[in-house]
Amino acid sequence: MRFTFFNDFLALVFPQTCAVCRSSLFDFEELVCRSCQVQLPTTTYHQRPNNNDLAIKIMGLTQVGRVMAFLRYTKKGVSQQLLHQLKYRNQPEMGVLLGKMYGEELVRSGYKDIWDGIFAIPLHPAKQKRRGYNQSMMFAEGLSDALGSPVHDSLVRTKFTSTQTNKSRMERIANVENVFSLVSAADVRDKKLLLVDDVMTTGATLAVAANVLLAAGAAQVDLAVIAAGK
Ligand SMILES: [Zn+2]
Repeated sequence: MRFTFFNDFLALVFPQTCAVCRSSLFDFEELVCRSCQVQLPTTTYHQRPNNNDLAIKIMGLTQVGRVMAFLRYTKKGVSQQLLHQLKYRNQPEMGVLLGKMYGEELVRSGYKDIWDGIFAIPLHPAKQKRRGYNQSMMFAEGLSDALGSPVHDSLVRTKFTSTQTNKSRMERIANVENVFSLVSAADVRDKKLLLVDDVMTTGATLAVAANVLLAAGAAQVDLAVIAAGK
């Protein structure tokens, strides 16, 4: 790399620290130190993708296949800390890292080559412009690196929704209805897809988006999120 010397100099003056424990990172470590990486509060949902709290929660809203989450969401815990860095501290690379880590775990569990494509829940263009990136798309990119399935961006958000917080389950579903549309069905028809988002709480957003893909002829839609909400 051209700026290696400069990067080394920067690292000397401003050492990169772990996003979780704040200890200095070694050169071979990226964003989260090895010791924190092995201690992440992971779920085992991919080992029982049809029988876990998220799968049960979304049942009845949509006909998806597997429902999986990388991390358990704990308020003020590690997953919240990482998601905060990803969403509000301008760290798109955190999403890529989490996607890579989860993708590698999925490959170890036999999930290689089962998806034809990966879709991320889109942000409204105005919101994406403000943030500079879509955190869920970053997660999708990391998963794609590990799984070898391409990421598609033909699912778009057409309506700006008010915040989902403090809304009942039915209100949340009404709030996101007709929010998504597909620019092209070519990447969807007869394909096995993985649809991803950052957090799943009620599942309303993911269910509505999954239904758009299913209505366009997807053979199967599986879901994966960075963290399972309450
Ligand atoms: Zn650490």
